[in-house]
Amino acid sequence: MSEDLFLKIIKREIPAEIIFENDRVLAFRDINPQAPLHVLVIPKQHIRTINDITPEQDAVLGEMFRAAAQIATAEGYRDEGYRVVMNCGERAGQSVFHIHLHLLAGRDLGWPPG
Ligand code: 5GP
Repeated sequence: MSEDLFLKIIKREIPAEIIFENDRVLAFRDINPQAPLHVLVIPKQHIRTINDITPEQDAVLGEMFRAAAQIATAEGYRDEGYRVVMNCGERAGQSVFHIHLHLLAGRDLGWPPG
């Protein structure tokens, strides 16, 4: 999958159902949802994997988590619970190499994950 697919969504070169945006963070519905709510929260700056996060980028990671909580609340899942997942590397299931939080809710989410 394209390295900069999500940059294309940020630049509106690829359509997506965007549900949250500020200067640093964007969130949109996953094209292949794995739960009734499945949203991807991404930084607007390109960060390839969790391994590449620098101290200067700590703040945007916090903003991504706060955006996830805000979206979960807006979509009605704040109290029943939701899951936030970030895959790092191919064996963990990362297919798009621009970091993203998966926000999943609306069904029982098994543990351990597959
Ligand atoms: P990963 O496998 O890297 O953790 O997650 C990538 C996610 O991006 C997958 O859940 C996949 O369905 C989603 N995805 C891939 N291409 C697109 C796209 O063009 N639009 C949207 N909205 N989601 C995408």
